[in-house]
Amino acid sequence: ARNGETGIAADALSVLNSVFGLPGFRGAQEEIVRHVSCGGNCLVLMPTGGGKSLCYQLPSLLREGCGIVVSPLIALMRDQVAGLLEAGVKAAVLNSTLTYEEAAAVEARLISGDLDLLYVAPERLLTPRCLSLLDRAKIALFAIDEAHCVSQWGHDFRPEYIGLSVISERFPDVPRIALTATADELTRKEIAERLALVGAPHFVASFDRPNIRYEIVEKQNAPAQLKTFISERHAGDAGIVYCLSRAKVEDTADALTAAGMVALPYHAGLDAATRARHQDRFINEDGIVIVATIAFGMGIDKPDVRFVAHLDLPKSIEAYYQETGRAGRDGKPSSAWMAYGLSDIVQQRRMIDESNGSDAFKRVSIGKLDALVALAETANCRRTRLLGYFGETQGSEKCGNCDNCVSPPTLRDGKVIAQKLLSCAYRTGQRFGAMHLIDVLVGRETERVKQFGHDKLSVFGVGRELNEKQWRAALRQLVAMGHLRPDTEAFGALKLTESARGVLKGETAVMLREETPTSRNRASRTKS
Ligand code: ADP
Ligand code: ZN
Repeated sequence: ARNGETGIAADALSVLNSVFGLPGFRGAQEEIVRHVSCGGNCLVLMPTGGGKSLCYQLPSLLREGCGIVVSPLIALMRDQVAGLLEAGVKAAVLNSTLTYEEAAAVEARLISGDLDLLYVAPERLLTPRCLSLLDRAKIALFAIDEAHCVSQWGHDFRPEYIGLSVISERFPDVPRIALTATADELTRKEIAERLALVGAPHFVASFDRPNIRYEIVEKQNAPAQLKTFISERHAGDAGIVYCLSRAKVEDTADALTAAGMVALPYHAGLDAATRARHQDRFINEDGIVIVATIAFGMGIDKPDVRFVAHLDLPKSIEAYYQETGRAGRDGKPSSAWMAYGLSDIVQQRRMIDESNGSDAFKRVSIGKLDALVALAETANCRRTRLLGYFGETQGSEKCGNCDNCVSPPTLRDGKVIAQKLLSCAYRTGQRFGAMHLIDVLVGRETERVKQFGHDKLSVFGVGRELNEKQWRAALRQLVAMGHLRPDTEAFGALKLTESARGVLKGETAVMLREETPTSRNRASRTKS
């Protein structure tokens, strides 16, 4: 809080050296710091660990007044302030953990110009008391951290973030910098609209995490597959396992413990003390596996997490990226491993359908899920696909560090297979799920098949050339390609889409992965 607008660049570098003890800027940091220090608004998209904090901390020091940082994470605020105080920066927090007296003291320092940086929880900032406090203070800038929380379509929506539009209305002359580590095109647009950053520059860093190996396997016996994955590839390593339900978290933690691993559950059903204890052990001890619902991990800074495993499908590519991104922050080789099956797609679709969201919300959510399923089913490089979703194109089409690059699946013409499957769904009235369709195709005379007379259909037994596992894989790929769609209102019955017609008529080509008994579990066994 000491400078005018001259010589910003030189000042920035000298503060970077003297206060933060860093030799130079990384990526777009310098440009962002210069832009904000000169009073510009912007949106910053950088992966976790990319160095977002400096982008607002430095301009706060260079500009007159105090930088106000809006952050939803109390633990993160505390850590940041502790680090800043150590570096000699006058920083403080204003949140619900303070006593009345402590808060009053911070407020007095803000008014008297004795603060460089003040971290505020969003709900606190929105109180009339806080807004009028800010009216009386000299403010260098507003930084809105975790800005994707403003997105109603996103996985981290926080209603209080919507209220942050008040910042631009009430303090139009104070620069605003919004920062996030997760933003696809749609979220980016929403942030810009809600925080009045339309027209302001977007600084987008590469989201690539080259040290993370992406692997997605077909779910068969998930607990056993997980145990094998950990013991063969990550024995003794720290890792996070994500499950959707509390019950599954508990079961999985038990299974890993029984296999001799140190695995701790973490979910909202545990009391706060237990959760805190498990989190502390995970952070401070070596080689702990935490089994958690998605509630775990935001704001946790543990650099040596060697693997993140998903036993259930996340909601979107953004969620997958953010959760897997907790692996390997130290830059060393790490794994992002996921087991998924058709039932995961049905389950996620049901959750969307049964949610209270508007039709628009459901449509967007389904689109996001479809994109993730396509990533899971792609035969091409996962990284290229992942980064492509964030609008990033890679130099090379193959990263060399995902399962599909390490052992590329063989593709074959799947036109006939697809036609058999689609006509089986059609002839059985589009009222049945995967299991029944496969029974009909391989010619199994089950009770249900006979009851509906499906053993009399022309498609009965026409698919004996593939086994059940191969049919399941083909089915998932047709869902991922959008030719089939599970209808959750009809208990996951598979229905044909508009595009299925082209396949049935032989006008649309379909390439399918060659499935061998081990093909989807074969990623290299070298311990990384
Ligand atoms: P983010 O908020 O994007 O997750 P941080 O701001 O916490 O990232 O920075 C991540 C790490 O990178 C921190 O340890 C920080 O000190 C370090 N860092 C940031 N910028 C630089 C830089 N220019 N040079 C070296 N290290 C940096
Ligand atoms: Zn790849």
